[in-house]
Amino acid sequence: MTRPSTARIALNRPLRRLFDYRIPETMTVSPGQRVKVPFGRQTLTGLVVETGVTPPDGITLKPILEVLEPWLALPAATFQLLSWASDYYQHPLGECLFTALPPALRRGRPSQQKQDEHWQGTQNIAPLPANAHRQKALLEAIQRAPGISTGELVKAGFNRTQIKSLHDKGLIELTEPQLPACNQTAGTVEGPELSPAQLAAAKDLPQATDRFSATLLYGITGSGKTELYLHYLKQQLQADQQALILVPEINLTPQTLARFRRYFGSRIVAWHSALNDGERLDTWLRIRNGEPVILIGTRSAVLLPFTNLRAIIVDEEHDSSYKQGEGFRYSGRDVAVYRAHLNKCPVILGSATPSLESWHNARQGKYHLIRLEQRAGNALPPEVALLDIRSRPLEAGLSRPTLNAIKEVLTRGEQALVFVNRRGFAPIMMCFDCGHMEECPRCDTRLTYHRRDRAMRCHHCDFQMAASHTCPKCRSENFKPVGQGTERTEETLAEQFPDTPIVRVDRDSTQRKGSIQGILAKVNSGEPCILVGTQMLAKGHDFPNVTLVTVVNADGGLFSVDFRAPEQMVQTLLQVSGRAGRGEKPGKVLIQTCHSDHPLLKSLCQGNYAALADQLLTERQTGALPPFRAMAILRAEADTMQASLQLLDSIKPKTAANGIETWGPLPAVIARKADRHRAQLILCSNHRRQLNHLLTHVCQYLDQCKLPASTKWIVDVDPQETG
Ligand code: ADP
Ligand code: ZN
Ligand code: ZN
Repeated sequence: MTRPSTARIALNRPLRRLFDYRIPETMTVSPGQRVKVPFGRQTLTGLVVETGVTPPDGITLKPILEVLEPWLALPAATFQLLSWASDYYQHPLGECLFTALPPALRRGRPSQQKQDEHWQGTQNIAPLPANAHRQKALLEAIQRAPGISTGELVKAGFNRTQIKSLHDKGLIELTEPQLPACNQTAGTVEGPELSPAQLAAAKDLPQATDRFSATLLYGITGSGKTELYLHYLKQQLQADQQALILVPEINLTPQTLARFRRYFGSRIVAWHSALNDGERLDTWLRIRNGEPVILIGTRSAVLLPFTNLRAIIVDEEHDSSYKQGEGFRYSGRDVAVYRAHLNKCPVILGSATPSLESWHNARQGKYHLIRLEQRAGNALPPEVALLDIRSRPLEAGLSRPTLNAIKEVLTRGEQALVFVNRRGFAPIMMCFDCGHMEECPRCDTRLTYHRRDRAMRCHHCDFQMAASHTCPKCRSENFKPVGQGTERTEETLAEQFPDTPIVRVDRDSTQRKGSIQGILAKVNSGEPCILVGTQMLAKGHDFPNVTLVTVVNADGGLFSVDFRAPEQMVQTLLQVSGRAGRGEKPGKVLIQTCHSDHPLLKSLCQGNYAALADQLLTERQTGALPPFRAMAILRAEADTMQASLQLLDSIKPKTAANGIETWGPLPAVIARKADRHRAQLILCSNHRRQLNHLLTHVCQYLDQCKLPASTKWIVDVDPQETG
């Protein structure tokens, strides 16, 4: 067989194509390896995708300049995963592959392994000169410990010349780094004894096997899912194996990490957006080297180059933050399931409010369903009640019964949580004389009033301006905030309960104070206080002394145009309700609404998510919506709405395939955002594969279109937002 002389290379460019290069005589490369190549006048970092390709006749290829490390930056399974994801999400392969590299390696920096080469003996038997004692000793040392690094050999008293000499003689060769010695600290805690319900669930979890399986762990809030994950890994994961636990961004608090570290010591490694480039490279290399870590990470952790991954857990699998909102729009959860499939290992999806996708898969028998419907320890599920606020006098959005309930809780020395779905002071500033409302000059939205710094801000672009006291249109002084934001609720509560600390948790307060953890210190101390906050409070927190949760207004999701809105509303309300009564004392939830007879809200009071999910799935089936059909959105944005619609209109005939249904093109709900006019075309099909083929075709066509620089398009497969 002749040596392949050409290679197809992916570059970190938003281009749906690869580039061919010549492999110089003295070089060997394999798919997944990192190289330097000339590109125009630049030198770029590339990843080898294929070798042995035949370039078109008459074209002289430029040579690959350098191989950046002897090992594969993307091992085969990770490479395969990314290639699949590139096709599934219709995102250029180059960008997908580079997403899986730490920033330093994307930029072409050397990986540490480059200086620290790893060695093993070869099959060659060439006699060494009788007096070459050191070389003999070196060869023996390498044969005794294949994979030993240059660094370790130097520490043992050998030098680089001796190593080079053995290498030149063909007696040793470079190899993959080996598992490092386990100098890890062990965890110290055994954890509580599992309750009978937890034990039954634990028995039903997949055994460590070499088979793919997907399990949906539906466990109500506070049922002890986390405890169950810990138990599972303790029981099933062997000392030399890797595991991955995916969590939504907000859940990766020091508290959660500490909980895992108590069980597994330094085997627990974290991966999240706050790591710096050095830490990223370090962790990435540890995973790549096969260190038997248990990695807890957010979305992108699923793309790390694991080499011995034996278990995957996706916690709060319904959380919308698993879907990347821009660029490579992958779902961490769905990629995790595919990864388990490739790796032939179990994946466990856990949630108190599973996504309708996973619930559907469980009902169809694709996922094994485990139900855990009792709270752990002595805690009972909270009692949920609706409070109709039509024609009730409100104190900045809070009704008298709500305020009384908060007062009662505080008197008992307990804590209350008030959930508001909007940050800022008020979502609207309105003139009560002329009806004028302040709008963002760049978006089709209203400006939110932020009282703390007297600013009007757009929550969709970065526009802000000073707030005015009078109506900018008619100068009337009757210019007032309308509706509730967290700041306003905080202010009202401070007036009503002057002696009680109020803790506000939203994007503004956490950005100012640096972290949610510092803010929550008061809550964690257990003293009476009132927590006011957005979604951020709904997710995963364990506040044992919170016994009352009140929802200021539940109606947002009831009448939205987005087909996912009811699902998300129900999930948020149940998750936030789940913060009540997690400790010894029972919890209560009060939901203020103007639609207390709405069937969704009524079912919610029963606290039975399974029944709600069934009900919501029936509606999706009737509407022929996901998960009963595959969906993708083509979005266009341009300087005018006409240009956006025109582009999508030109695509529409190409989508007229059998079995594909299209809706639109239509302007997006927020048609203008940051002065860009946005439109969308929704595509649905009963056959995912057919939709995928069609999208490939459409993307190829769009790539070839000569579009004005200001006109952009993107494709979003399995969109989370359809507005
Ligand atoms: P989830 O992840 O389902 O919300 P957690 O695992 O965080 O639940 O458990 C909720 C609370 O119950 C935690 O405070 C946890 O320490 C406690 N807990 C869990 N399992 C047990 C158990 N078997 N015995 C006593 N307490 C438990
Ligand atoms: Zn006015
Ligand atoms: Zn704006």
